[in-house]
Amino acid sequence: MKVTGDMLIGAANVPAGAETMKALNPTTGQLIEPPFALGGAPEADRAVRLADEAFDSYSHTGPAERAAFLDLIADKLAAVRGELAERAWLETGLPVAQFEAEVDRSADVFRKFATVVRQGRFLQAVIDRAQPDRQPAPRMDHRLQKVALGPVVIFGASNFPISYSVAGGDTASALAAGCPVISKAHNAHPGTSEIQGRVIQQAIAEAGLHEGVFSLVRGPGNEIGEALVDHPLVRAVTFTGSEGGGMALYRRAQQRPDPIPVFTEMTSVNPNFVLPAALAARGAEIGSGLAQRAMYNVGQACLKPAVLLAVDGPGFRETREAAAAEVQEAAARTMLTPGIHDAYVRGVQRREKDGAVLVGAGAAPARAGEGQSLLYEVTGAELLAEPALREEIFGPTVLLVRLADTDQLFEAARAFRGQLSAAMHAEAADHGIAGRLLPILERRTGRVVFNAFSISQEITYATTHGGPFPATSDSRFTSVGMGAIERFLRPVTYQNFPDELLPPPLRGANPLHLWRLVDGELTRP
Ligand code: NAP
Repeated sequence: MKVTGDMLIGAANVPAGAETMKALNPTTGQLIEPPFALGGAPEADRAVRLADEAFDSYSHTGPAERAAFLDLIADKLAAVRGELAERAWLETGLPVAQFEAEVDRSADVFRKFATVVRQGRFLQAVIDRAQPDRQPAPRMDHRLQKVALGPVVIFGASNFPISYSVAGGDTASALAAGCPVISKAHNAHPGTSEIQGRVIQQAIAEAGLHEGVFSLVRGPGNEIGEALVDHPLVRAVTFTGSEGGGMALYRRAQQRPDPIPVFTEMTSVNPNFVLPAALAARGAEIGSGLAQRAMYNVGQACLKPAVLLAVDGPGFRETREAAAAEVQEAAARTMLTPGIHDAYVRGVQRREKDGAVLVGAGAAPARAGEGQSLLYEVTGAELLAEPALREEIFGPTVLLVRLADTDQLFEAARAFRGQLSAAMHAEAADHGIAGRLLPILERRTGRVVFNAFSISQEITYATTHGGPFPATSDSRFTSVGMGAIERFLRPVTYQNFPDELLPPPLRGANPLHLWRLVDGELTRP
């Protein structure tokens, strides 16, 4: 598929005008052809208006038609697997094989949401039948289902340019819910974004859907993103990126005359608590396993296990040595963008200023833009005294925390802000401490992992990729897993309606064969 540099506004390919940008190959420092079109408020407006026009027909597609559309996107993604992975490699410097796996993951996500749509459980159909003889007053018939919110704006992440970007889980779950999508491409991977956008654009044409179901726009700075968030026809926003960017967009949306939900996923250090018996029995294995995972994607992952905490005692030295050995073997690797690299360098300088001691370092960078793997250590008292030590540094660095005793372990656990995940490593002898730690972690995270690491993330019905602020701006929802669809739905109750005017999920004959809650009882189709 040829990368042309166009923006995709509905079925229209909008070519580059006066203002353009080129993708940067962060490995070579060279710009890549072609020039990409940049837009602003007018392009945002066109894309949103088209999405609004598409909404009524798209949100009322039946399960078979919508699921077939999602499967078609999956097939088309699989068909461009090689070229998509190759372009992502050019624009990020990360391995092609990693991106092939990302394409597979994205295709799998679209197929999984096709199944969700066919199952129809997301509609959460509820029927409370009329009680004409109820005393002292009769009750009318009440029926509820979930409906799509409306046009949704999706800000793609920089760090997973396929699975968290244009054709990633946010887009799949919004389209599954029945919401047209306006994708704000991340400027770190414009060609990768365009290929994914064309896949969706072509699927829309083949499926005979309204062209406004999907648009892909980009801009030179904040203007286009701000225009999208401000647009009166937009009904929700999703974002993956920095806390500063996410909160700026969140606040903006809350200041609209009609505030709308903004689901941001921002920052997490995913603390790992190694309890005493586990530390003594297998500290080295945990230390090296954690360091390996922390360096995946050059440490540019929301689920990076960035902090390991353990009470000083048998096994601590072995844990540190094993983690240091992993880090020392790591080559310096190109980071996603010069900006992300500079932020990483500033972050580790700050960490040293905050008193962290360097206990392991990978190969020194040979080229500009490469991130060096670094392992630091602090005491529990230092971690508690300096909030910055509990914050994310986006890149290949890990912090070991040497705690004085179990009380300090609980205190440290309470000191973290909201997290996407936390892990505990425990033997049977640790279960007493684990049982006390669990409610502390539950309050602060969306996922608690036992004797494993939280990266990588499975996509299941039970997945939560969310958590209290600042992991996300709304801890009630997940952005990964089949529950992600719930961000784009709202309940509507139909009161006292004749059967033929009810939406199919709520009709008496149950034509969609749904499980429904009828008069408080879950009933089979
Ligand atoms: P970012 O700077 O937050 O940008 C993400 C997207 O949001 C971009 O498309 C950007 O568009 C847009 N944006 C940001 N602020 C905006 C604003 N005020 N108004 C309108 N649009 C706005 O994130 P990034 O470029 O991906 O990386 C920067 C840092 O984010 C990293 O160093 C890292 O700390 C963090 N990050 C964390 C995660 C994670 O999973 N924890 C993932 C990615 C990034 P423009 O660039 O066009 O303005």
